[in-house]
Amino acid sequence: MTNPVAIVTGGSRGIGAAIVEQLAKDGFDIVLSYARNAQAAEETADKVRALGRKALAVKADGSSVAGNKAVIAETVKEFGRLDTLVCNAGIYPYGPIDEMSVEQIEQVLNLNVRGVMVETAEAVKHMKKGGRLIFIGSAFGARAPFPGISLYAATKAALRGFTQGVARDLGPKGITVNVVEPGPIDTDLNPATGEGAKVISSFVATGAYGTVDDIANMVSFLASPKAGYITGAALPVDGGLEA
Ligand code: NDP
Repeated sequence: MTNPVAIVTGGSRGIGAAIVEQLAKDGFDIVLSYARNAQAAEETADKVRALGRKALAVKADGSSVAGNKAVIAETVKEFGRLDTLVCNAGIYPYGPIDEMSVEQIEQVLNLNVRGVMVETAEAVKHMKKGGRLIFIGSAFGARAPFPGISLYAATKAALRGFTQGVARDLGPKGITVNVVEPGPIDTDLNPATGEGAKVISSFVATGAYGTVDDIANMVSFLASPKAGYITGAALPVDGGLEA
């Protein structure tokens, strides 16, 4: 018997790295993708190996079709199976839409939306005995209450519709699909320091940023046999974000 295999895109740092470590603790062998930061990717992969699981770090740009396909192809070549796909890689463009170039718009759509769709389409070809698809959306997928987030919010809202539709398509094949919607989580993308972070925290019921482990714990549950009857859902992990 081989171990179940999980892919985590953008698994080198931040939320993705915490998901990698948690899924390894849960018994998965891991493929993690990254864009630039090879050292962080190898350090995260080493944490998996220290837990007695196998790990493969793949440099693959999730905003290119070739990069998305490469992650799945490398996984199948190395492990011969795929059980869980976590689409976590994402960027957070900030600014009003009239200040965004078409290139910036395409860049975020290509990673945050098209990347998830291509990765999903490729992954399910290899989920012959069922599987789990877990997308990392955002609390801003449900609302865009602050200036400067229209583009980002639109990409994360797209994941809600995609999740519901894919759940219908793939339910009969034993594949579940859900989107986890974090509130503010302390990472390089959104550090919990400075005046901006104080303002954001004031909208959270707990009054504070969440941790990467808060998100990893939800992903761990969704990837487990306990979550087999949860699909097509958008699950908030946001400390009770009010805005
Ligand atoms: P970080 O910026 O801390 O980490 C981003 C990760 O994605 C890194 O591993 C990075 O790799 C990888 N990545 C970036 N661009 C690409 C690309 N083009 N192709 C492949 N991998 C890429 O982000 P977070 O951990 O904070 O965010 C992770 C996800 O969570 C994102 O989808 C984000 O939108 C979402 N989210 C985050 C929130 C927060 O407050 N932090 C709140 C709500 C949602 P590398 O190391 O090589 O750069």
